Amino acid sequence: MTKKCIGCGIELQGENPNSNGYLPKSVLEGDNKELLCQRCFKIKNYGQYIPIKMTKEDYRQEVKKSLAEADVAIPVFDIIDFEGSFDDEILDILREMESIVVINKLDLIPDEKHPSEVADWVKGRLGEEGISPLDIAIVSSKNGYGINGIFKKIKHFYPDGAKALVLGVTNVGKSSIINKLIGAKRVTVSKFPGTTLKSVKTEIPFSKITLIDTPGLIPSGRFSDFVCQECNQNIIPANEISRKTYKVQEDRVILIGGMIQMRVLNDDDLKPIFSLYASKDVTFHETNVEKAKELMQKADFLTPPCENCRDEFNSLEKDVEVYTVETGEELVFKGLGWLSVKRGPLKVEITSPKGGEIIIREAFI
Ligand code: GDP
Repeated sequence: MTKKCIGCGIELQGENPNSNGYLPKSVLEGDNKELLCQRCFKIKNYGQYIPIKMTKEDYRQEVKKSLAEADVAIPVFDIIDFEGSFDDEILDILREMESIVVINKLDLIPDEKHPSEVADWVKGRLGEEGISPLDIAIVSSKNGYGINGIFKKIKHFYPDGAKALVLGVTNVGKSSIINKLIGAKRVTVSKFPGTTLKSVKTEIPFSKITLIDTPGLIPSGRFSDFVCQECNQNIIPANEISRKTYKVQEDRVILIGGMIQMRVLNDDDLKPIFSLYASKDVTFHETNVEKAKELMQKADFLTPPCENCRDEFNSLEKDVEVYTVETGEELVFKGLGWLSVKRGPLKVEITSPKGGEIIIREAFI
């Protein structure tokens, strides 16, 4: 019988150290049943990243394989990067089958926001996408909030048991949630995208529930995917979120790291007021039009990108577009952060890498 890695689910092999699923033959042929491939072992024990050799298409095929046998989908979204958690492949599945949506990283939301408000907001946003889940669970895998509620909701809708297909793009915290659900550190958790390679099936004892953990899809349009692996990690909301409020006049420029330039175009006396949110490792900087260009090219205090990926980032083709954001609306930079307009309208010209998605939505915070 072939043995599988308990971390990422890939079939283990003792032949080729440069291929996925490798582990030394002596370990593979030993008695130990809880085996980790070399890659998961290194991620788990040394936090070391080894790039994977699977394409986006491989990921998709793998998810499709598990679809036929699942009763319910459990998609996981990151509340801090909600739009960045979207992938058409996942949204299409949710339009077709019953789902219980899990919203993770509640711990990163300011205290004044009640989970029920978060749930209402999510319901509205999913409704706009044509998705109406059976229920929504708001959780934090970091502090355990709401995790048991996921089982309760599955049992409520499927009293005779269910096969639950856990879906999500990379870095939403899917592996962390599954670890919490099965009460043991089985799945590889890291800030590196794509750490689960194959679907991993786990029966939950005495519950008649089977979880099928699918690989994380890498969605399109995330700004975080334009920088190196290290910067990518720093952008992922995992620790603190920083917020800065601006009241600025025409021709002031706000820089988000060295990645995005926002030039204010409002020309009346009433200055717009807005707050900017992103991971605390993303620099915010206010300047004028002349200085902005120069800073974007070489200022090393503007991160990300870092010194290793700045030249490559700067060589990317850029788009320049004008957005008008009303009071109570937010401008979202998928995979990077968002801007919430307190007194609008805010009219801005945005210069950003081509392919990065920018969306206007109803305010969340
Ligand atoms: P996956 O790619 O979806 O399986 O995501 P992981 O479980 O590997 O988590 C991605 C990153 O998000 C890791 O750095 C986790 O520590 C972090 N993370 C996961 N869940 C939470 C959460 O509830 N709160 C916070 N603050 N960080 C989380």
